[in-house]
Amino acid sequence: MGLTMSSIPKIVILGAGYGGVLTSLRLQKELNYNEADVTLVNKHDYHYITTHLHMPAAGTDHPDNARVSISKLIDEFKIDFVKSTVVQIRPQDRKVILEDGTLSYDYLVIALGGEPETFGIPGLAEHAFTIRSINSVRLIREHIEYQFARYKREPHRTDYLTFVVGGAGFTGIEFVGELADRVPELCKQFDVDRSLVKIYNIEAAPTALPGFDPELVEYAMQVLQKKGVIFKIGTAIKECTSEGVVVGEGEEIKSQTVIWTGGVRGNRLIEEAGIETTRGRVKVDEYLRCPGHENIYVLGDNSLVFNEEGRPYPPTAQIAMQQGVNCAHNLVAQIRNQTLKPFVFHNKGTVASLGKGEAIGIAFGKKYKGRVASWLKKAIDLRYLFIIGGIPLVLRKGKFL
Ligand SMILES: Cc1cc2nc3c(=O)[nH]c(=O)nc-3n(C[C@H](O)[C@H](O)[C@H](O)COP(=O)(O)OP(=O)(O)OC[C@H]3O[C@@H](n4cnc5c(N)ncnc54)[C@H](O)[C@@H]3O)c2cc1C
Repeated sequence: MGLTMSSIPKIVILGAGYGGVLTSLRLQKELNYNEADVTLVNKHDYHYITTHLHMPAAGTDHPDNARVSISKLIDEFKIDFVKSTVVQIRPQDRKVILEDGTLSYDYLVIALGGEPETFGIPGLAEHAFTIRSINSVRLIREHIEYQFARYKREPHRTDYLTFVVGGAGFTGIEFVGELADRVPELCKQFDVDRSLVKIYNIEAAPTALPGFDPELVEYAMQVLQKKGVIFKIGTAIKECTSEGVVVGEGEEIKSQTVIWTGGVRGNRLIEEAGIETTRGRVKVDEYLRCPGHENIYVLGDNSLVFNEEGRPYPPTAQIAMQQGVNCAHNLVAQIRNQTLKPFVFHNKGTVASLGKGEAIGIAFGKKYKGRVASWLKKAIDLRYLFIIGGIPLVLRKGKFL
């Protein structure tokens, strides 16, 4: 493969999420001195632990506990970190355009994460919040508190106290669990009667957590209903306005807080780069490369990988991390002219939190619920902190999980 100017290949990694961080950490470990020039680009100078964001969004934890400074994760003697926003990917010139500069590459790793998919439902993009970054969860948290304060000034406006969560997938379920835990605290703080507060979780599919074990789904719904969550399952959100949502056959739910968790798509920048995608996600080859571009790897929420039955794996942190490790291995192999390794996903299980001390999950082929599942969730989060930051990070952040 022809290389740009310097004789050392240039690797550019876009996005410091699960995929990008794991790729960087592995590369800094596996590459020899001067074997490649590695640059990591990310919008923020911190990595956020997306799987934890439902807590700061509901206000049951501080947003700072869900982020880690990138300089604490990577060795800046080995990897150049550039804090900037990618605005364009130009495969034809092997360049990436940033908001404040240009980078050229020999090898590119695209791990920019997903964007909310609104499926064209009118008004969602304009009026609904989404749980996707530190900035977005800070906004949701402040907004929720503000609604309680506003209600005290305008007690006829019960829509201030009505919270609508669109989507009962993992993000929606985890968020309503936290919100239901937070509400009694907010009621106390703002002198509001708990019975006035409504939390709706609305899902178009015929079940919550579609595709998950039905017995665990039933358990999750019971736990959440007991905490006061009102489910509307098999009910589509038809429209979102500044006054609330219209659902099902035209029923209107007035709410000043609609949080959309119903879908994730890939990144628009990939489509705009002229790369073929399905909802912004690239059907990568067995080595995680972009078809037609042997020097571009695509990871995490930006990629589509299929299981043996030909169904795509859902986008998760778990698969993004494993892809990061595989991608780093293949980059090193490609640079050294060695054989690449196909990516194989090892599903270690799935655990969803239902608020304090409650969760459901499947791990090691067994079902878990209640406190045990909640410990399992903590163990998974601690393991992640250990993988990216070793014992010091576990000690610093672990207590908050
Ligand atoms: C609330 C919530 C809970 C979840 N819980 C779980 C769970 O329990 N288990 C699980 O496995 N998965 C979970 N997921 C899914 C998981 O978080 C994602 O699948 C995972 O984050 C994907 O990793 P990624 O590397 O593709 O992207 P991300 O982790 O999203 O990282 C993308 C990075 O790119 C940066 N970026 C984006 N655009 C630009 C740009 N233009 N320029 C520069 N930088 C940019 C972002 O700032 C970010 O740092 C959850 C998701 C949410 C929202």
